[in-house]
Amino acid sequence: MQNTESSFELITVQSSPVVNFYSPSTDSVKEMAIRILAEVMKFRRTPKSHQPCGDEKCSHCSSYHLPKIIEAVEKNEPVTFVLPAFPGKSPNPRKVLGALPDHAERLSLAFLGNLCERIKEYYLPGIKIIICSDGRVFSDVVGMKESDVTAYQIELDNMIEEMSLNDISTFNLDDYYGGIDFVEMRDHLMDIYGKSVDSLKEKVKKGAKPGATPEELEANRMYCGITRFLFEDAVHPGQTKSRAAVQREARAKSYEVIRRSNAWTELIAEYFPQAVRLSIHPQVCGSKKLGIRLIANESWMTPWHGVAVETDEGFVLMKRFQAEDLGAKLVYSSNGRPSHFTLVKD
Ligand SMILES: [Zn+2]
Repeated sequence: MQNTESSFELITVQSSPVVNFYSPSTDSVKEMAIRILAEVMKFRRTPKSHQPCGDEKCSHCSSYHLPKIIEAVEKNEPVTFVLPAFPGKSPNPRKVLGALPDHAERLSLAFLGNLCERIKEYYLPGIKIIICSDGRVFSDVVGMKESDVTAYQIELDNMIEEMSLNDISTFNLDDYYGGIDFVEMRDHLMDIYGKSVDSLKEKVKKGAKPGATPEELEANRMYCGITRFLFEDAVHPGQTKSRAAVQREARAKSYEVIRRSNAWTELIAEYFPQAVRLSIHPQVCGSKKLGIRLIANESWMTPWHGVAVETDEGFVLMKRFQAEDLGAKLVYSSNGRPSHFTLVKD
């Protein structure tokens, strides 16, 4: 009896420091961080040409992001993610319903909100996603009206509030510089964070060759993708330039859009040093950015380059003219604005 009691006591004394809710062991912190990252990586985007690298727990993929997540989990704080996205609607009326966010943005915000909620089920502080709306960064290059960018930003914030997405917030160039002229903002951004166009061209060129680094591959893919978007937006009925001239212009503008985006990336990294960097573009294994989908099903389309279309299998994103060609019916929201299309027969 004596022995049993004393050994019981001994166990109690030894185990008490371990059972401390506020200082979890290093192992359990790491485990939690891996679990959080894996949840995000379930929806990651990798390039089609890229060999998949194992599962959501690929150590090479997580190596860059995990330390930041561990740091937050150690302090029992929310893990912060930054996502440069939601710049404003494409200026091409053949692709979108107008200048303001519509059901396409709503679907995307709901998807991101769900991700936050799921993580909160097992990590109470949860995650925070800061959408770094980048329209003002390159609006003059892609032909977006400044007033449209402002209206889009305001409406996006309204939508987030109305949907009670407390873990999602926005940050943009206007927030950072507050009150100064838009041209001045961009000039200042490029003075401080801008890199030369020649170094970018070199990177894009290397990205098309074998043995390219993840950064060069991404530069090349971004260049091709943005050139395509700019070309599409510039080819509309009534334009008089030749296709070759439009293509040339799209290529030159593409370099400028990427230079601006890269400068924005630098600013964000400095302003949110603790945050994990998400990207809407596919990313190769081991990249400093984590490519993520904006809606649950894999789609190249973004909410701001297209419209939401309701089908029997759920919502998909496509270009406005494609929805119209399919004979989809336009649906208005309760405030009377065009919201999305439907192919579902009632
Ligand atoms: Zn990997």
